[in-house]
Amino acid sequence: MAANTNIFTEKQTNNWFKAYIALNWTKEGLTDFVVTELINVQKTVGSSCGQCFIQNLIPCPTQDVCKKRKRTNCSFHNSLQYKSCQTCTKVKQNITSLHRFNKPSWANTKAERWAIDPWEIGKCYLPRDGYSSVSSVQASDFNGVISIMLNCTHFQTCVSTACLSPPPPDKQCPLEKVRQIGRDVRHTANCKVTDADLQYFFLTLSTLLSDSVCLVHDPSATKARRKLSDLQNDRISLDDLGKLVIEANQILTQAKRFSEEAERTLKEGLDALEDKIQAGEQSIENKTQESINRIKQAANEKELDEYDRGIAGERLRA
Ligand SMILES: [Zn+2]
Ligand SMILES: [Zn+2]
Repeated sequence: MAANTNIFTEKQTNNWFKAYIALNWTKEGLTDFVVTELINVQKTVGSSCGQCFIQNLIPCPTQDVCKKRKRTNCSFHNSLQYKSCQTCTKVKQNITSLHRFNKPSWANTKAERWAIDPWEIGKCYLPRDGYSSVSSVQASDFNGVISIMLNCTHFQTCVSTACLSPPPPDKQCPLEKVRQIGRDVRHTANCKVTDADLQYFFLTLSTLLSDSVCLVHDPSATKARRKLSDLQNDRISLDDLGKLVIEANQILTQAKRFSEEAERTLKEGLDALEDKIQAGEQSIENKTQESINRIKQAANEKELDEYDRGIAGERLRA
């Protein structure tokens, strides 16, 4: 049974919501591909000894990694000292030479696990901040997955040339444009996306998911592409809609864009919904509607709140 994906009254808020969901699904669609290719990267860089920690492989101090302070220990190196290990130094060099900008994020990675966990190598290609505790490609976010594809030059061999030309960091690079979509949607000031932008997002994400070198043959990517097309055309099952509403809860809670009160209202409404779905409750449609109303209410409250603050701000400036 199909359900209406238009959860919010405001068209552009619905668009934003769809864009956010589209990004999550795109990330899911890319996950298997990135997992597989990181295994190939691991083979390429060779085996580490398994005994060295990243702190052992980096002299103290090293620019962009750590600073030595007078009298106190370096917070990165702590009690671990630099030591010579030819095996691991070679792997570390290989990781560096596969980095597009020769700047792996060393603080992210656990070198003692390089030989057993390709993800620990993948983490070297993530942005420097915010990913050290992320435990897998699956647990990573959209930005993380795209960053690995952009920063690790191994991916040049498994996506089409068109996807990476002009090469990053050129803003015209198609994969850079994909990353920018993620940023625009995540850092939105008003949770709104125009119809034209939404169409552009769907087209760009679907194009990536059907890249002719590997992704076009990848079942997860194909599935994600189908889901995007269904989302774009409002062909979505009631069950999926329930999941979406729960996802919306998480998104809006994490986003911290809503007032605390609105956030609480959202959370209560959607938690209740989740319980009902898990209990196999038949009246999901009503419950969904109830939660939707709560989101709308919370969004209205937030808008009023912002409006009030805007007025207050103008008064202050005047
Ligand atoms: Zn070693
Ligand atoms: Zn240090």
